[in-house]
Amino acid sequence: MTNTLPKIHLIACGGTIVSSGDDALQMTGYRIKDFSVDALLAAVPQLGRYARIEAEEAARIDSMSMTSEVWKKLGAAIERAAADPDVTGIVVTHGTDTMEETAWFMHLTAKTDKPIVFTGAMRPATALSADGPLNLLNAVRIAADPRAKGRGVLLALNDVILSARDAMKTNPTNVMAFSGVNQGPIGLVAGDEIVWLGRPERPHGVETPFTLKTFSRPRHLPRVDILYSHADDDGVLVRAAVAAGAEAIVHAGTGNGSIHAETEKALAEAAAGNVFVIRASRVPDGCVTPGLAEWQEKGYVPSGTLSPQKARILAILVLLTFGWSPEKMKEAFETY
Ligand code: ASP
Repeated sequence: MTNTLPKIHLIACGGTIVSSGDDALQMTGYRIKDFSVDALLAAVPQLGRYARIEAEEAARIDSMSMTSEVWKKLGAAIERAAADPDVTGIVVTHGTDTMEETAWFMHLTAKTDKPIVFTGAMRPATALSADGPLNLLNAVRIAADPRAKGRGVLLALNDVILSARDAMKTNPTNVMAFSGVNQGPIGLVAGDEIVWLGRPERPHGVETPFTLKTFSRPRHLPRVDILYSHADDDGVLVRAAVAAGAEAIVHAGTGNGSIHAETEKALAEAAAGNVFVIRASRVPDGCVTPGLAEWQEKGYVPSGTLSPQKARILAILVLLTFGWSPEKMKEAFETY
């Protein structure tokens, strides 16, 4: 008898979901050892009730050490899977530390309306009440759900479905590690049911001009640094970023993307030298507005509702796609 269940392509990137501790009570301070994606799949035989799974490994790293090289490899694997007419949806297992960055990059560049669902775990595979197996099962169920189509890249952990645009890791140890900043969950897993609540408002995937091809072409990506503001901030790190060749600086300012008076001088010099200054905020929620007239005159671009780490990715994609274009940079932050 032929298996008519949907085919889900799983791409593993590492992270806690494939990490193991010394015993069942070790919840932190572990590393990836030899637990593989095959062992993960074997630990959840119930997956076979929902889908035919084919798996590949794009990386086996802790995601705090994520690189754009892995994004290229993962993006290519997603493109191949999306092009296979037999594949219904794609699941990516990934460390939670930078999951929101990789997912946001794919949300902007993956040219498919097939579901792409990121998941991971906060507890290692060996832990008491490990969260990886159920997160994986739910991610597969979501990726196989025809209603997930066209919603862009999703994060599914702890029974909550978030859009890659708004997901942010907001707790370093709890299984409820992610929040949907500004836009809350766009879906839930409730027992057997997947309950959909919304769609990302902004263009993504096929609706953007950003492509994996453009990203993969250059040997060196434009350097974009994130600088985090604080009391006694000065311009030293801004000048260091410019000296290191930064083409844009994401300034994670206080409040509404505000800038320390000392740092302001260095940012103004940077902007005068055609380094983009993106005004983001240390504050996770809300929207950074254009602010002071003098900032606008200098061409500083407000990050809107994007976190500094997501603003950095958008700035890189704009630089690669359009070169030095203040209009395109401003437009991108208003649009995506
Ligand atoms: N250290 C992990 C990582 O790879 C954390 C996790 O996966 O939850 O991001």
